[in-house]
Amino acid sequence: MERVGIVGAGTMGRGIAYVAITHGAQATLYDVASGALENAVAQIEAWLQEATARGRLDETEARRARERLQPSTTLEDLVGTEVIIEAAPEDMALKQEIFRQLDAICPPGTILASNTSSLSITALGAVTRRPERVAGMHFFNPAPIMRLVEVVRGLATSEETVRALVDLARRWGKTPVVVKDTPGFIVNRVARPFYLEALRLIGEGIADPPTVDRLVRALGFRMGPFELMDLIGLDVNLAVSESIYHAFFEEPRFRPHPIQRQMVQAGRLGRKTGKGWYDYE
Ligand code: NAD
Repeated sequence: MERVGIVGAGTMGRGIAYVAITHGAQATLYDVASGALENAVAQIEAWLQEATARGRLDETEARRARERLQPSTTLEDLVGTEVIIEAAPEDMALKQEIFRQLDAICPPGTILASNTSSLSITALGAVTRRPERVAGMHFFNPAPIMRLVEVVRGLATSEETVRALVDLARRWGKTPVVVKDTPGFIVNRVARPFYLEALRLIGEGIADPPTVDRLVRALGFRMGPFELMDLIGLDVNLAVSESIYHAFFEEPRFRPHPIQRQMVQAGRLGRKTGKGWYDYE
């Protein structure tokens, strides 16, 4: 049986864990916060029940999936897994520390992947003794639904590692695309103007968020930029915006907007806090 480890049980980690356990893999889901793990287990249970109610899984498959999930607050429980996917906050220093620790405790064959939206995979690999076994495996939100996975090749990532992650994504019913290690990869790079122009529009008082969202949906997009920021989390979106801006040496096109930061300062992070651009309470 395939054994994977997931670091961080937030929005993305729990979604990736669900994908893993419903595709036959055993998943150890690790977080420093036990509360995050409890919420993750409750969310995964809700997804399993929904999938059963809709006939996508039968009772036995749901029970087996449930048994394949192991929540943990002990990093050492990840030792022995074949692939570890890190989905901790978008902060280079924090992620490097996690990669250093994983590198120290895991056998040399373990692949260490990151779900980062924008940070350098090469810089994560550089703090380990196995940069050839470090890569990006970037899922999209919500992970159980979105098919695309960017497999990111760092400067030192081996072909074997890329192939292993591409195969894993395919076994999990995903559509992998191999991308170069560049700030924001493909999707978050092309998505920058989608968010930033919309923020500039409201910053200049030209339109309000519901109007921009309605217009963008009328163009054929599934969601407008403000609805999507609320789904992603405004803190996550700001961190990604800042990271891409700095990684391109303060390129003006990618400059984040002060309104983003103000919303984060107010704790209006979107759906996860009950309030963002819209009210969910
Ligand atoms: P989140 O804030 O929902 O979850 C992060 C989790 O990491 C929290 O549960 C937190 O307790 C935990 N954590 C913090 N420090 C940790 C540590 N040292 N070790 C283990 N766990 C720790 O964040 P998220 O939205 O799930 O984002 C996680 C990663 O995925 C980020 O790199 C983000 O850029 C990327 N990502 C996010 C989205 C999105 O739409 N939210 C989409 C694709 C990729």
